[in-house]
Amino acid sequence: METVPREIRQLRACLLCSLVKTAEQFEYDGCDNCEAELRLKGRRDAVLECTSSSFDGVVAMMSPNDSWVARWQRVDALRPGVYAVSVSGRLPADVVAELKGRDVFYKSRDTAVKT
Ligand SMILES: [Zn+2]
Repeated sequence: METVPREIRQLRACLLCSLVKTAEQFEYDGCDNCEAELRLKGRRDAVLECTSSSFDGVVAMMSPNDSWVARWQRVDALRPGVYAVSVSGRLPADVVAELKGRDVFYKSRDTAVKT
C-alpha cells in the first residue's frame, strides 16, 4: 500500500488533510488527497511548506468510509492511509488564498491552537 509510510524518519503530515507520509513520498507521489489543490508532486519547496514534521498521534485509516474515527477526524472522504490527530503549523497565506478561490475550506489541524 503506497500511502503507508515506508520509514519512520522524515515523516511529515499534510497541513490540509493530515495524511502522514515521508517527505520523499510527498515529493514523489504528491498528497493522495490534496494533489489537485496543493500540487506537491516534484516540488520539494511546496512539500516543505504544505506539510509539517510536527504532529501528534497517528491513526491508521483503512476503510475511512465507515470509521467513526474518520468522521471524528473529518477525513471520511479521504483515502486509506495513516493520518495525524493533530498537525502543528499552518498552510502559507498564498496557498490558503488559492484554496479559498477554489472553494476549498481550510481549517487548521493544529488542535493545540484555540482560535
Ligand atoms: Zn493532503
